[in-house]
Amino acid sequence: KKRIAVMTSGGDAPGMNAAVRAVVRMTIAKGCESYAIYEGYEGMVKGGSLIKRMTWEDVRGWLSEGGTLIGTARCMEFRQRAGRLQGAKNLILNGIDALIICGGDGSLTGADLFRSEWSGLLEELVKTGELTAEQVEPYKYLAICGLVGSIDNDMTGTDATIGCYSSLTRICQAVDFIDATAYSHSRAFVVEVMGRHCGWLALMAGVSTGADFVFLPEKPPGDDWEQDMCRIISKHRGMGKRKTIVIVAEGATDNKLNPISAEHVKEILAGKLGLDTRITTLGHVQRGGNACAYDRMLATLQGVEAVDAILESTPETPSPVITINENKIGRKSLQESVKLTQDGAKCIANKDFEGAMKLRDREFEE
Ligand code: ADP
Repeated sequence: KKRIAVMTSGGDAPGMNAAVRAVVRMTIAKGCESYAIYEGYEGMVKGGSLIKRMTWEDVRGWLSEGGTLIGTARCMEFRQRAGRLQGAKNLILNGIDALIICGGDGSLTGADLFRSEWSGLLEELVKTGELTAEQVEPYKYLAICGLVGSIDNDMTGTDATIGCYSSLTRICQAVDFIDATAYSHSRAFVVEVMGRHCGWLALMAGVSTGADFVFLPEKPPGDDWEQDMCRIISKHRGMGKRKTIVIVAEGATDNKLNPISAEHVKEILAGKLGLDTRITTLGHVQRGGNACAYDRMLATLQGVEAVDAILESTPETPSPVITINENKIGRKSLQESVKLTQDGAKCIANKDFEGAMKLRDREFEE
């Protein structure tokens, strides 16, 4: 009878609660014991009341709730071996032998490292007298499974991360509101959206709202972008459009790595086109609110799959991350997905777009 713990880590995302609910209930339905680790890795390192047994009723009403009700934190201690040692001890003291983590690539990297170190950590706990050999004996193997929770949709190997469609929905709603006032006054709005080094939210928001121009980290505009943007917007205005929307991803840069700021775009629209221009930085509104239907569905199906993956895992199976590709829930190697994601992010940060494209193609060929 396994004791499966679930935790949320890294940036919060709508749908994380739905994932926790699905994991808790599926764990119980399979006859196992369910635990929640509160405050991400912080809770694992600190232990005590932050590791809590969960019942079916504990997650009632969590399906639609935004954010994460079991909390999340950035935990510096877990980045050090000493912190992970403490985490291993707390899991064993609670009898936990399986872990499902819903978080971004950082959290999943930490999880993978933790599993690879596991037997060494146990040896050390025994050697230092923190635990006895009998205490660690039943925990020779820690099963780990990742769920990708992130509003940015920045994980390689899966079409959508838990939270990205809720965030996209929120951005679209906000732009719709802005549209009304922009139209009324014939104004231009520069809207800055989240996504870190990933332009998915900005690009899809642009497509979904019919924006005039979009700035993305993955595809910096050419040297003449100021003229290009003005030409396109003038053309739209010339065709009778009364409103102008330009979307700037937070990680957007020009092709020389200089960040493209909303302020700079505003100056060009006002200065070169004479448009009455305002800036809207959506900020944390993009993370808030209820999970949209897609994220509830995705989190539930993936939460169920994560528990199945844990129950089927053996010491030889690589830790999986739960994915969705072409509408099918699946599993991939957590380590491989995290590595491809980080390599891709590094390529984008170094403006090695060819490298990024190659990585994407490699992903495609698999
Ligand atoms: P996200 O999971 O959203 O990418 P972070 O990168 O902030 O967010 O990671 C969340 C937490 O995961 C960190 O605060 C840290 O505790 C843990 N973590 C991240 N990267 C590592 C790593 N390389 N080794 C160990 N733990 C890590």
